[in-house]
Amino acid sequence: MEDSTDGHHDTAPSVPRLLDEVDRLGQRFATAEAQRLFLGLDFDGTLAPHVDDPSAAQPTAENQQVVQALSRLERIDIAVISGRALDDVRDRVGVAGVEYAGNHGLELDGVSPLSDPDAIRSKIQTVCNRLETEIDHEGCEIENKEITATVHYRRVDDERTTARIRSIVDTVVEDGGGLRCTRGANIVEIRPAIDWDKGEAVRWFLQRYSEECLPMYIGDDTTDEDVFRAIAPEGIGVHVGTDETAATYRVDGVGEVTTVLQWLADTGMDELVGKGDSSP
Ligand SMILES: [Mg+2]
Repeated sequence: MEDSTDGHHDTAPSVPRLLDEVDRLGQRFATAEAQRLFLGLDFDGTLAPHVDDPSAAQPTAENQQVVQALSRLERIDIAVISGRALDDVRDRVGVAGVEYAGNHGLELDGVSPLSDPDAIRSKIQTVCNRLETEIDHEGCEIENKEITATVHYRRVDDERTTARIRSIVDTVVEDGGGLRCTRGANIVEIRPAIDWDKGEAVRWFLQRYSEECLPMYIGDDTTDEDVFRAIAPEGIGVHVGTDETAATYRVDGVGEVTTVLQWLADTGMDELVGKGDSSP
């Protein structure tokens, strides 16, 4: 991605490729204690290729099939955690037996980390209305996801325009109060200024377990870095791409995500968890 909130630029990654290490992964992470695997997955750029029109994004057939196959295994719990609205990501993945979290983990089934969701909805609506008026570039889309919003500018191809869009968003969000921006791949996310992110959502999933659980998370975006930090050092963080990352490993793209998930389904689950279980 061309910009990053901490000002770092892409460098040759020192993070090993997961597919180069996969033979040793079981040894490194298998502990007699870990009885379950929690597998967290981002959606866009991880299960589904990035596309110019975000409303057209679909998981690859291979990823959909392997997630389905994994969801039928014992000793694994899967959650897809996306910046999309909860219903949107659930509909697109369409696998039952998988949990979903939307809006960067702010939208969880049956619980909200927001103290006043209605107030946030109203602020987001106001900000979106102003952005619709002030940004007149047709390649830019403003998506109201109720408790967050996304400004998409993947289809804007000159840098002066994207810089102008980002600057307008910054100003409008600052005026809105109680909201903040985070930047991703050709998007700006507008969300409540509270201390809750995808990492907190994963912590929320993990605190439900009474038995030892090994967390693994695969994602491509800056918002996924919060998860990599949250599950370090015990968990397996996998960054999709070549950007600087807090993840333990990286993979090259959506196709390699399939390879990793397929490995999990075939042999990885047995290598990673349940070694202490002597039942046949
Ligand atoms: Mg993503």
